[in-house]
Amino acid sequence: MPPCIWTCERKATSDEDVLPIWLRRHLNLGVKGKRRFQRRNILVPGAPDPTHPVPERVMNAYYVKARKTVCVPCNTGWMSDIQKATKPIMTPLVDNHPTTLTPTGQAILGTWAGMTGVTAEYACGTDVEEQRRRAIYQNSRHEPGPNTLVYLTHIDPVEIPSTLGCTRMRTKQNHRPVVYCVIFTAGSLGFVIFQGALREPQRTRLHARSASLIPVWPIGTLENRVWPPRQSIDVRGMHRLAQEVLEGRASH
Ligand SMILES: [Zn+2]
Repeated sequence: MPPCIWTCERKATSDEDVLPIWLRRHLNLGVKGKRRFQRRNILVPGAPDPTHPVPERVMNAYYVKARKTVCVPCNTGWMSDIQKATKPIMTPLVDNHPTTLTPTGQAILGTWAGMTGVTAEYACGTDVEEQRRRAIYQNSRHEPGPNTLVYLTHIDPVEIPSTLGCTRMRTKQNHRPVVYCVIFTAGSLGFVIFQGALREPQRTRLHARSASLIPVWPIGTLENRVWPPRQSIDVRGMHRLAQEVLEGRASH
């Protein structure tokens, strides 16, 4: 029996949906229907199912699961609590209603994104060592691990109800991932989630794109933030942005 990713205990584990059931319902995607799972490359239209393009793995989030990862006490306990707290804060943004986010609301979205970032990495079959440490931290503190950065975007146009993409920056020497980036969209709301310490050129690129990004984690100041950001972006634009940041230079 594989251990729970959050606690390392060998309890019965279940498959964890990266796209939670309440959000599927909200997006009218239905709850069941394994066969309706689509996976396609939305960065290069018409290209077949990509295995490792750059960015790695972009998929319709409809049926992405982290298999045998989460034990029942976690799933029905603190994870469920985070989902319940997130729903009323996230749904207006998914539905494209301009919203003022309190610091508490920002923290809830950041915590949800931290949790989802970890399960998305597992669903994408990432090497687990780094993510396992992150998962254990998130379980013990119920907040994202150190060096987790979460930004919100405003998706326009919305071409696919929900998308998921994972990309990472690796070291030149041994190709070990050092920064993970998960892109997740639901309706008009996008998340860009960085996991790992960004270097100065990467932070500079991030700052240069601040018109498209609203930071929600970590909490910097106890101030409200207004969504949407000044600039909207589409899913391809989000992946370009992530690539620019990871490479620490503007893409052309
Ligand atoms: Zn567990």
